Amino acid sequence: MIELNDVNKWYGDFQVLKNINLYVKEGEKIVIAGPSGSGKSTLIRCINGLEHHQSGIIRVDNTILDHNIKHLEAIRKKVSMVFQHFNLFPHLSVIENLTLGPIWVLKKSKKEAYDIAMHYLERVKIADQANKFPGQLSGGQQQRVAIARSLSMSPSVMLFDEPTSALDPEMVKEVLDVMVELAEKDKITMLCVTHEMGFAQRVADTVIFMDQGAIVEQSSPKEFFHQPKTERGRQFLAQIL
Ligand code: ATP
Ligand code: MG
Repeated sequence: MIELNDVNKWYGDFQVLKNINLYVKEGEKIVIAGPSGSGKSTLIRCINGLEHHQSGIIRVDNTILDHNIKHLEAIRKKVSMVFQHFNLFPHLSVIENLTLGPIWVLKKSKKEAYDIAMHYLERVKIADQANKFPGQLSGGQQQRVAIARSLSMSPSVMLFDEPTSALDPEMVKEVLDVMVELAEKDKITMLCVTHEMGFAQRVADTVIFMDQGAIVEQSSPKEFFHQPKTERGRQFLAQIL
């Protein structure tokens, strides 16, 4: 499904990703953890081409992510991303946020796009807010809209970059509940940067621990939480658990 082979990336002289090798199976749920600045966001942003890697190969469903715009478009149709700060369009209503992509990118009719949008808004339990603007919603509601917006593009892969870390504590659960349901019921492949270790233990097939731009551990949640292989992993867990 997703394959990264010896991927490297630099910002000037600073190497932000170091020899990343990663194979993600269809339907696999991966949680990416690691200290601030370890390259987690950069890694997942490379997978849908929001950042460019300088060497190595990134492949999604046999399409290689390179400078060919057709390849990038093909990958963007399959891989959708949910951001820490929601990134909804503030001047569009909730329903318009959801129908924009299906109409313009997937070439759906307005009616079809509307039906898809309402389906996913119902799924994240927010259909009653369809005509509001993002600024009129709580953070947890906005993030659920963002998840519904991603789903309305029918992605086969969803990337999450700390989707709950900008939320007030009482709103974290409503978003995690939606993500758990997605993980448990859907075949969708998920890569999720998060420090929500309860979520990781519950749904992840694999936990990846990054440090200083490299993947230093890749294990089952059970292994990672109970017997981390590296001293750095142990220190990290001691801080967050
Ligand atoms: P956090 O947990 O704080 O979100 P992260 O693991 O997601 O951290 P990244 O955002 O991927 O880390 O950043 C990795 C490193 O790359 C950091 O040292 C960061 O300062 C650096 N970096 C990120 N974006 C840029 C950029 N556009 N230009 C230069 N350096 C950058
Ligand atoms: Mg980050």
